Amino acid sequence: MFGTAFRQLRYSTAILRNRRIRPADLERIARDLIETLAEFGEPGEDSVLLPGQSGAVDPAVRRTVTTRSLRATARAAARSTPYYRQVFESLALAPDTLTPETWRQVPVTPKSALRGLPAAFVSAASAPSLMALTTGTSGTPTTVWYSRAEVEIMVALSTVSAVLGMGLRPRHAVAYAGCSRATLPLLNVVESVTRIGAAFVQLGTVEPAVALDRLATPLGLRGKAPQITHLTVSASYLSALVEEAEQYGWQAGDFGLESVGVGGEVLSEPLRRRAEEVFGARVTSSYMMTETVPSGGTPCDAGHLHHTTEFGHLEVLDPETYEPTPPGEVGVIVQTPYVPYRECTLLLRYDTGDLVRLPETPPECALAHMPATSPILGRWSGPVSRTVTTRSLLDLLEAEREVPLPARYALEERPGGPPLLHVLTRRGSAAGSPGKAGLLGRLEDRATAAGLALGAVVLHDDPAGLPPVNPVRADLREHTFEPARPAAAPLGSPA
Ligand SMILES: [Zn+2]
Repeated sequence: MFGTAFRQLRYSTAILRNRRIRPADLERIARDLIETLAEFGEPGEDSVLLPGQSGAVDPAVRRTVTTRSLRATARAAARSTPYYRQVFESLALAPDTLTPETWRQVPVTPKSALRGLPAAFVSAASAPSLMALTTGTSGTPTTVWYSRAEVEIMVALSTVSAVLGMGLRPRHAVAYAGCSRATLPLLNVVESVTRIGAAFVQLGTVEPAVALDRLATPLGLRGKAPQITHLTVSASYLSALVEEAEQYGWQAGDFGLESVGVGGEVLSEPLRRRAEEVFGARVTSSYMMTETVPSGGTPCDAGHLHHTTEFGHLEVLDPETYEPTPPGEVGVIVQTPYVPYRECTLLLRYDTGDLVRLPETPPECALAHMPATSPILGRWSGPVSRTVTTRSLLDLLEAEREVPLPARYALEERPGGPPLLHVLTRRGSAAGSPGKAGLLGRLEDRATAAGLALGAVVLHDDPAGLPPVNPVRADLREHTFEPARPAAAPLGSPA
């Protein structure tokens, strides 16, 4: 155990002094944690090990570390990738002179550049081994190449955060309901969960009735919880599960779930509440994206999203001018993932397209030492997406039981006026009926109260009348040969 203690101490010291953590140390720490779990059942008093839990550091020290990390990343990108070699040469920029203050001289990298030519961002000094594709619900998928070493780092970090952050133990069983083709997150979760000794179940994005059935089925394994305890899911597929559970009378007592982790899409507050009610589990959402892992964001009790500083450099910029976003305003996350945690696809000032609001005043919460933003508000797709955000629309719609989940809606932009919001409601609620009039009135009142600049709300109970809607991850449905559900009628349907 001496080696373990020593490495943990070194890692803690590195975080406290905000020095860089060596990737090899991360892997050893993850291994040590598992050994400690196996021997003592608990990881011990090591919360400082959790990335981001290190406490405040001297701003001067932080600045030095940031400068060093930015320069090392810029140097690697300019030397080894065709895209940045050209950028640095054409601007006569020298990576070794950059500071956090002059970092803005490096042009922002738009998503379209990576999407157009992913190989131009791959370092000649690395060995690409795994191609990850984003789901591309908002357009063409983006390709990101990873090396084997990067995958090892991600697995190590995810093991550490599963043990210390999620409290995952060998008695737990984790189900993953993300798309089965999403190799990188799948590999990551299978490896970290099974290394810890917990059980792993791949559900996939199957028919919701089939997924609920699997979640409720007793495992009957010695030494394991009676049913699946943890679920990892996208927000829209969670909404499909909530819809199925509410319509067919599933209740919290049917499941053994303790925790539901949501990622990849905006989790609205009403959906979180409905999911907690129906599953009887804590529902949380964190932020991680394929292009910028292992940088990511963790929510705090004060409602912020706090971003790690160990693995990348965060900027929040105006999506049109790329000027820094002032406090209280909405901008896009622009991220620079650092070497050596990333070594294959190198990205400098990558425009993620993810919109956040900056806090009006400096946070005073437990994670105040980490940069804070609002939770993700949505994806930038033009000026309207900044004022009428995906989050504000989901907060509005997912609170209404007459709107089937996943909520289907479309914003119709009109020249010179605020957009119209088209919403799909449950079938059978014909126009003008009291129920529908009630829903329309409620939506209008709540939109006004929330300060949403909408021209009008238009209800549809026939999908054919709805303008084209944006696809969601729940639409990446995987087929099974199982009957979706026993011949049962939904609650409240005529016998
Ligand atoms: Zn906070």
